[in-house]
Amino acid sequence: MTVKRQLSMVLDLNKCIGCQTCTAACKLMWTNRNGREHMYWNNVETMPGKGYPKDYQQMGGGFDKDGALRLGRQPSQEDYGIPWEYNYEEALMTGTDPWLRPNVKPTWGANWDEDEGEGDYPNSYYFYLPRLCNHCANPACLAACSRNAIYKRQEDGIVLVDQERCRGYRYCVNACPYKKIYFNEQISKSEKCIFCYPRIEKGLPTACAQQCVGRIRWIGYRDDEAGPIHLLVEKYKVALPLHAEWGTQPNVFYVPPSSPPKIGPNGEELDESRIPLSYLESLFGPRVGEVLETLAEARQLKADGKESELMDTLIGFKHAEMFKLS
Ligand code: SF4
Ligand code: SF4
Ligand code: SF4
Repeated sequence: MTVKRQLSMVLDLNKCIGCQTCTAACKLMWTNRNGREHMYWNNVETMPGKGYPKDYQQMGGGFDKDGALRLGRQPSQEDYGIPWEYNYEEALMTGTDPWLRPNVKPTWGANWDEDEGEGDYPNSYYFYLPRLCNHCANPACLAACSRNAIYKRQEDGIVLVDQERCRGYRYCVNACPYKKIYFNEQISKSEKCIFCYPRIEKGLPTACAQQCVGRIRWIGYRDDEAGPIHLLVEKYKVALPLHAEWGTQPNVFYVPPSSPPKIGPNGEELDESRIPLSYLESLFGPRVGEVLETLAEARQLKADGKESELMDTLIGFKHAEMFKLS
């Protein structure tokens, strides 16, 4: 879809500390009302892991190589996790049955597999992957909606659900391969990340980016050649979309994570990264190796006391300069 301008976000996975401050900021601002308990418009997953909802990467959706829409499957309530409550009264007053309301035995929920990762010591590894709606240039959610209730704003490319038009058919949930659009059973409508458009319209960054402890997020317009998005995505080409092969043309990009070398049986460093390149390629495509080399070169420049525009940008010395919203 063509729009006049497109807002984008870049996230540097080398800086994410998995603190979930972004998750809490979004939840408190937008999804703390009834029917939205399972909604995490922003969440941070430990990778390799199952993600949220559980195993969403295997649920399908998006477009095939010929551009035909694929309707994947909808996550079940179990894939999101059945909400539970802690038994605060008994924990404080009697000490009996302290943790959960009776008869609730949770087996899955958002962030259930936090910090599990893969591999054996000393070569075990994981990294954090914050996820939100990609405000795609070719949104599968929009293509699937038979009510034309989903639209992409001309002025900034933000993808929104018109709540008046939505009838809760949920084709959008099937079609989004990222499972970043959620059904609210209490109002029978679909809801999703709104890229904090009321804040954007006031010239403020999104809540998830504003509150980011690690300063890992940049926001700007794709066509702003003086802005951070152009520099990271187009000029240095170090920011890549997640699962580009799903065909939705995401506008959220990731700087892939570097990792230390693997350790051999005698304690020697091997010529192989701790996080397998093949795994990163399965997420971010075939250019990951090239990007990691560019990052290593920029880091070396700084280590040698030389200038690196790329590394200075990635450091993010001033938080306010990471957002260019005009
Ligand atoms: S990530 Fe999913 S919900 Fe968001 S615009 Fe793309 S297809 Fe739609
Ligand atoms: S952009 Fe706003 S609505 Fe979207 S995930 Fe971030 S905080 Fe939530
Ligand atoms: S607030 Fe920033 S550093 Fe913390 S988990 Fe979210 S993206 Fe990562």
